[in-house]
Amino acid sequence: MPESKLHGSGGYIIADLTEEQTKKADLGVGKLFLAPIGKLEIQKMSKHYCKICETEFSNPPKIHLEENTNEQVAENLILVERGQYTCQQCSSIIGEYRVFKKQDESSDIGQAKSSQ
Ligand SMILES: [Zn+2]
Repeated sequence: MPESKLHGSGGYIIADLTEEQTKKADLGVGKLFLAPIGKLEIQKMSKHYCKICETEFSNPPKIHLEENTNEQVAENLILVERGQYTCQQCSSIIGEYRVFKKQDESSDIGQAKSSQ
């Protein structure tokens, strides 16, 4: 599987993506973007480029967890985690990630027994 270049506001990350992640990252402008993918595992990222350092590093960026939330952003959609990928050297932000969860995935456990 070829590695993909994912653009963020402060540089890019080279990572190994699944087909589904590639689809999410492709906004139809001929580039792939970090933000729509969700959180990438550190093992999947092989390089990062930092605009501040003007250098491509041959290791993954750092992952900085900003907050764990349980914020409802739309009907049935919850933002569970928010954070950034940051440069190994200067800690500036390469890009951001957000992890969403659909509400109904975890809801109806133990609710189906209203027998009378
Ligand atoms: Zn840097």
